[in-house]
Amino acid sequence: MDEKLVKRRIVLVPVPAQGHVTPIMQLGKALHSKGFSITVIQTQYNRVSSSQDFSDFQFLTIPGTLTDSDLNNLGALRFLIKLNQICEASFKHCFGQLLQEQVSRDDIACVIYDEYMYFSAAAFKEFQLPSVIFSTTNATAFVCRSALSKFNADKFLIDMKDPEVQNSLFPGLDPLRYKDLPTSAFGTLDDSINLYSEAVNTRTASTVIINSASCLESSSLSRLQRELQVPVYPIGPLHIAASAPSSLLVEDRSCIEWLDKQKPSSVVYISLGSLGLMENKDMLEMARGLSNSNQPFLWVIRPGSVPGSEWTESLPEEFSKLVSERGYIVKWAPQMEVLRHRAVGGFWSHCGWNSTLESIGEGVPMICRPITGDQKVNARRAGERNCGERVVKRLIVDEEGEDMRKRAMDLKEKLEASVRSGVLDALNPVLTIDGKIKLVS
Ligand code: UDP
Repeated sequence: MDEKLVKRRIVLVPVPAQGHVTPIMQLGKALHSKGFSITVIQTQYNRVSSSQDFSDFQFLTIPGTLTDSDLNNLGALRFLIKLNQICEASFKHCFGQLLQEQVSRDDIACVIYDEYMYFSAAAFKEFQLPSVIFSTTNATAFVCRSALSKFNADKFLIDMKDPEVQNSLFPGLDPLRYKDLPTSAFGTLDDSINLYSEAVNTRTASTVIINSASCLESSSLSRLQRELQVPVYPIGPLHIAASAPSSLLVEDRSCIEWLDKQKPSSVVYISLGSLGLMENKDMLEMARGLSNSNQPFLWVIRPGSVPGSEWTESLPEEFSKLVSERGYIVKWAPQMEVLRHRAVGGFWSHCGWNSTLESIGEGVPMICRPITGDQKVNARRAGERNCGERVVKRLIVDEEGEDMRKRAMDLKEKLEASVRSGVLDALNPVLTIDGKIKLVS
């Protein structure tokens, strides 16, 4: 470690949801391997524990007054908005105590907070500590959220009734269309606009870091750099830079044994992420597509992801028979290991950004079934957008599938090269805030 490194601690503030926890904990691991101590300040919801391979990290919890039923009933957007309203004071108190009792202000190199935990910025301003905003999605989605935050909700809703508007290209972000803008099913358009306008406000942060790579979206990164008042650094994909097992749900590892028995590149893996909901008719349609494709499949169905059902009880009996012949259903899978498995030939995905990066990182082509938010942005740029039997066959059985896998492998190589060229180099200028700190790569 460089002798000039005098400040050794980095404080992380994650959003309590899987898609946000995973990359921020990977970032923590990557920084820890460079000699930094890590403090994670989290809310009481969906907490990461030190037993999950983070025994060297310090974890602090700030109390919140929301109940578990708020968590389930408010919808993700309102939950985040409320969390920001109620946590500012308790966070400041917790942070003040950390400074008083455990570490001195001079020990802290910087605080990295998820863009949606903007309440924390008030504390860094008060204690005059450098802060960095971490965006767990990508620059294209960031630019879209920023654009959306300036829209008038009523006018946009009226305009979007016209199919011509829906399908027209969004200026400067070809091939994106207006209908791909990251409006969210987890709240009203007003909720999205309110949340996004807070999240894109960089406040006193000195930098924005993004879990993306310039080989994936250099023009969006340049555009974001022009729009924001602070430097923007792509530092991803973090799952290649550091492994950090931080699953909030129990992984069913029996699916790996099942995969071991399948032929190379024969299995389609299906998962719609940690939050996505589907109607019963959607689940039945997916089941029909899988039945007719004649291919082996591994399907993650989260309990509660089909409102009105506990788990898979509404799937027809003949489908259960089919599962025993050539399928496997789990409640939650070790996804990265699944994607790395030689038996997996394609990923039928909701296109959450982590899943997209993980799929590209393993050279697995995707069938895109976006549900909401930035998934629509990612899907437009990632791959095949129709789902069902025909696409599964094209991907797994046809010669075209071989081509798609080859293209996916090419992208994987490009991505790995961008990581090799120094994922943490990007943080050097961030951490060299007053000339005293230098990361060594
Ligand atoms: N994931 C997992 N097991 C599963 C499904 C998903 O470990 O069965 C992980 C996946 O590897 C990814 C994260 O959950 O890191 C989901 O994040 P993403 O951004 O793809 O979607 P979100 O859940 O935020 O919609």
